[in-house]
Amino acid sequence: MPFVKAIGLVLRTQPWRENDKLVFLFTRERGRLLAGARGGRRPQSHWGGALEPLTELDLLFYQKGDHLLITQWQILRSHCDLRAEMSLCGPALYLVELVGALLHEEDPHPQLYEELKGALAALSSRRSPTLVTNAFILKMLSLIGYWPSLEKCALCGRMVGGSLFYFSPPAGGVLCPVCRHLGGIALTVPGEVLEQARQLLQASWETLPSHARGSEELSDLLRLFLAAQLEKGHSAVQTFRAKMRQAERSLPSSPSFWT
Ligand SMILES: [Zn+2]
Repeated sequence: MPFVKAIGLVLRTQPWRENDKLVFLFTRERGRLLAGARGGRRPQSHWGGALEPLTELDLLFYQKGDHLLITQWQILRSHCDLRAEMSLCGPALYLVELVGALLHEEDPHPQLYEELKGALAALSSRRSPTLVTNAFILKMLSLIGYWPSLEKCALCGRMVGGSLFYFSPPAGGVLCPVCRHLGGIALTVPGEVLEQARQLLQASWETLPSHARGSEELSDLLRLFLAAQLEKGHSAVQTFRAKMRQAERSLPSSPSFWT
């Protein structure tokens, strides 16, 4: 079939040939995709605002060899309110860039797509950007198999308790007193910060408190954890993804996203 349908968010674009643009998309059905938009660079382009970052599109592609060309599109949600305000635009773009950096092309993840949409909607409805960013990163870590060890020592597996924890981003979670010097730099983290992480993971976007501010301490911890996990290397990431896709494919009620 030379035609492919998908619903997706524009991550970013870059110039392509004299008049065209390359569009980096995160689609619900096929994961991250790269597609050509003919005439996208023309000043009086027929694309209008469709190629702006964060725009959600209903798309029809034409497969030409190894390339995809966008042939039809309809804007489902422009998210212009997020782009118009610097305090919302920065966090929103950070989230889509994270997804773009973590996923490979043709690596479908419909649940993560829905979580990203939920996070953007929560930003639109004026939830705290720090709270939304923390919640999205936690949900993403859980979905792609990077969830940190918060109850057991990440190195020896002993149960860890108390009101203060040693958290090692490179080791992948909390450390017991015996291992705390073995897992690289260990940050001292109050127990309530880890409890907030557990609660945010469970919370739906609709039930996220509208007046609560996100924890800056949890935000710093998550960014350090993400950076450390991404540095661990390509092969580990690939293994996680392969396991995740295998598990999703084995579900009896798996939707037809894969066919
Ligand atoms: Zn230990």
